[in-house]
Amino acid sequence: MEAANLIEGISGTGPLAARRRGILFVMSGPSGVGKGTIVKALLKLQPELKLSVSVTTRQPRPGEEEGVSYFFRTPEEFQRMVSAGELLEYAQFANGFYGTPRRFVEEELLRGHNVVLEIETKGAIQVKERVANGVFIFVLPPTMEELHERLVKRQSEAAEAIRQRLAIAMDELNYLPFYDYQLVNDDLEVAVKKVQAVILAEHCRVVRNLSTY
Ligand code: 5GP
Repeated sequence: MEAANLIEGISGTGPLAARRRGILFVMSGPSGVGKGTIVKALLKLQPELKLSVSVTTRQPRPGEEEGVSYFFRTPEEFQRMVSAGELLEYAQFANGFYGTPRRFVEEELLRGHNVVLEIETKGAIQVKERVANGVFIFVLPPTMEELHERLVKRQSEAAEAIRQRLAIAMDELNYLPFYDYQLVNDDLEVAVKKVQAVILAEHCRVVRNLSTY
């Protein structure tokens, strides 16, 4: 390596620095745990993070916007995207299908931007198999009773759907050992600080900085 490159690399402005890929952060946790609220608050503090907008076949909830909350698609269109390899991962959850558009994630990582996915556990496992060095964060409720209360308060699901989501939540907890970090969402500000600490720590990992030298 030439001396000039070395110096530019260390200073963070040279060709080596430009080639450094972004980090993929994957957030999971039971429905209603407040992942979305944490991510929203995080993006306000760190607007340079790129949030991936998922595709889903479920119906929009009041206030949800096409292309912002989700890309709402028919089951047929979703299936076409799966067949065409347009999704990085996908999974069935409750009564819908959910998937992450591959292109957005790949392009942003190549540009050196950090990307955040907010997805359930089966999809997270697919991402772990397909993307090297992703960082997996699991958000836990203070208690399962509290999770139940939050789902009821949200009033976006009928009683049967809430029961279904709680059952899925119990199952999702089994996947916790697969994640790198866990945090309890009992205080939003603290939870966001913890995610920021994870982001900072991951940037300091030696393996992520080797190309600098
Ligand atoms: P909701 O219907 O409450 O918006 O989402 C239900 C679950 O699907 C949540 O756990 C959410 O994180 C997850 N989810 C949202 N988008 C995706 C996605 O693209 N892929 C996967 N596997 N799960 C997703």
